[in-house]
Amino acid sequence: MTELASKLDDVTQRFAAAVDRANDEQALESVRVAYLGRNGEVTAVRRAIGALPPGERPEAGRVINDAVAAMERRLQAAHGELESRAFDAELAASIDVTFPSIRRPAGSIHPVRRIIEESCAYFVRHGFAVVVGPEAEPDYYTFDALNIPSDHPAREGFDSFWISDTLLLRPHTSPMQIRTMQQHRPPIAIVAPGKCFRRDAVDARHLFQFHQVEGLLVAEGINFGHLKGMLTGLCRELFGAQQNVRFRPSYFPFTEPSAEVDTTCPKCKGTGLLGSQSCNMCGGSAWIELGGAGMVHPSVLTEVGYDPDRYSGWAFGFGVERLGLTRYEVDDIRRFTKSDPNFLAQLS
Ligand SMILES: [Zn+2]
Repeated sequence: MTELASKLDDVTQRFAAAVDRANDEQALESVRVAYLGRNGEVTAVRRAIGALPPGERPEAGRVINDAVAAMERRLQAAHGELESRAFDAELAASIDVTFPSIRRPAGSIHPVRRIIEESCAYFVRHGFAVVVGPEAEPDYYTFDALNIPSDHPAREGFDSFWISDTLLLRPHTSPMQIRTMQQHRPPIAIVAPGKCFRRDAVDARHLFQFHQVEGLLVAEGINFGHLKGMLTGLCRELFGAQQNVRFRPSYFPFTEPSAEVDTTCPKCKGTGLLGSQSCNMCGGSAWIELGGAGMVHPSVLTEVGYDPDRYSGWAFGFGVERLGLTRYEVDDIRRFTKSDPNFLAQLS
C-alpha cells in the first residue's frame, strides 16, 4: 500500500507538471491519454492493486479514484484557461478599443425654426403667450376686421391666394390678433408665429410662402416707447448686444401711427463700412429693414369690442426669412427653402 501510494503521488505530480506545460488543446489531450487513458500511467498503478493483500484493496481503490477525480478536475480547469486565453487573443486581434468611434451625424434645427423659437422665447420671458392659428382664413379676419374693407386699396398690396370668394391663404399672421382679442379681454400680450402666403414672384428677396413672427400688446397706457423697447430687445436677442432700432414713418391700415422698423446692420455694426468699402449687407446705409409696426388702430380695437379711449396697444410683424438673411449673412432667401444639408450644417 505504501509503495502504491508513493507511485500514485509520483504520477499525480508529473501529471500536474505536464498539464502546466501544455499550451494548446492538442497537448492537453496527449497528457490526458498518457495518464488517464486505457494504457495510461494511472491504469498501471491500478494494476498494482492485485498484488496487495485483499484487506487493503478497497482502500487502495478509493485512493486511486480520488486521485483520478482530482486529475480530471485539473484537466477541466486547464481547458477553461485555454479557452479564455484564446478568446482574449481573438478580442485583442479584432477590436482596437482606442480606435475613435463612428460619428453618427445628428440633424440640427432649421435656421428659420431657430429664429421663431428664439423670438417666441424672448417674448414668453416678458409675459407674452404664443398663439397659433389657421393658415386659411376668412377675409373678415384677414382684412375687414383689420380696418381693410373690401373696397380698400390696401387689399391690392396683399396679393393673396384666394380659395373661394371669402376664404384665402393668410398673407400675414395678423388674423390671430383679431381672433385673440375677440376671445379675451385686455390686457393682451401675444406673439404669433406662422406661415404666410403671397402671390409674389420668387427671387433672392421674395418667397410665395414664408414665415412671420407677429406681436400684439394691448392694455391701458401702452405707448410707442414700449414697442421700441421690446423690439430693441428682440434685435439684441437675435443679432447681438449692440443692436439699435429706428422707426421710419409709414402707413398700414391697421396701425396709427405706423412705422417701418430698421435695426443697425450687424455686419458693419451700424457704420455702413467694412474697412474702407461700403458694407455689402446694408448697401452702406448702416440699417437693415425688418418689417412693419405701429399702434393698433382705434377702429381695430372698436371692432373687437375694446374701448379705444381706455385701451391702447402696439403690434409688429417681421418676416422670419428676412431676419435669417441678416442673421446668417445669406445672400439669397431661397436657400432657406432648399434642404441642402451642407448649407444647413454651416448655420447650425
Ligand atoms: Zn452694413
